[in-house]
Amino acid sequence: MHDHPLARRTCLITGAGSGIGRAMALQFAHDGAEVALVGRSADELEAVAKQIRDSGGIAEAFVADVTDAPGMADIVERVVAQWGPIKVAVANAGANGVWAPLDKLSVADFRETLDNNLTGTFITLKVVYPAMKMHGGSMIVVSSINGTRIYSNRGSHAYSSSKAGQVALVKTLALELGLDNIRINAICPGAIDTPIHDKTVRQGVEDPNGECADPHTAIPLTDNRPGEPEQVAKLARFLASDDAQHITGAVIHIDGAQSLGG
Ligand code: NAP
Repeated sequence: MHDHPLARRTCLITGAGSGIGRAMALQFAHDGAEVALVGRSADELEAVAKQIRDSGGIAEAFVADVTDAPGMADIVERVVAQWGPIKVAVANAGANGVWAPLDKLSVADFRETLDNNLTGTFITLKVVYPAMKMHGGSMIVVSSINGTRIYSNRGSHAYSSSKAGQVALVKTLALELGLDNIRINAICPGAIDTPIHDKTVRQGVEDPNGECADPHTAIPLTDNRPGEPEQVAKLARFLASDDAQHITGAVIHIDGAQSLGG
């Protein structure tokens, strides 16, 4: 790995104000990238941008909800005008939404989670594509072990469906976008220590204590300690870099073997 594997590359990261997206933004900036931080909380994004700039990096905050296609397209236009073609895009924004049994999970709540996590990912990739296809690049989608390897977190129907859908999207796009020299890969984290778990709305299912309370989803590598956002960021940095130049359509689980139990 080079000292600055992302030097002068324009990178766009959604959900960059918190957790895994924040860690990726800090990592990519450290690796020399110009980082566009996208999310819906201006305060969080500005705090990350300031932290990057204070340590000599290049970053700017762009506020949008990833489900807002015109808003996202506008951001891409502004990023390209400022820094040139986008070389790396990370569709990371996502939320757990409502976790409930089938008879309690409303259609509206199911739709909202699918819209947020899956349609939001589609929109992110769709608006970035025109800004990447001339020169090629790397797209990264943050999925989950839920919906791709484990199904035992009770009430996670909408979340797991959205995460499974993201992986299908990555695989169909890997074939299509390979012709434009664009690689696209999925990262599937297990339980990672971020604020996401506190935001989960549980209706009629007990608090599963994050993604690892099910006895079949213990984390052998760490004696059940969740992973760190920085560990996921290092994987993203590898996938974004030229060191991963023959890797596309891959689904990489980063979970300390959490998803292999049971
Ligand atoms: P997080 O700390 O809550 O960060 C997610 C960020 O995405 C937040 O800033 C959130 O903003 C933003 N976001 C959500 N929906 C958005 C939307 N529609 N438009 C714009 N921004 C939006 O959570 P995280 O753990 O870092 O999660 C990042 C990704 O990793 C998610 O896709 C999640 O599903 C995935 N993941 C996480 C874990 C884990 O254990 N942490 C495990 C597997 C997969 P708000 O605060 O406004 O919602």
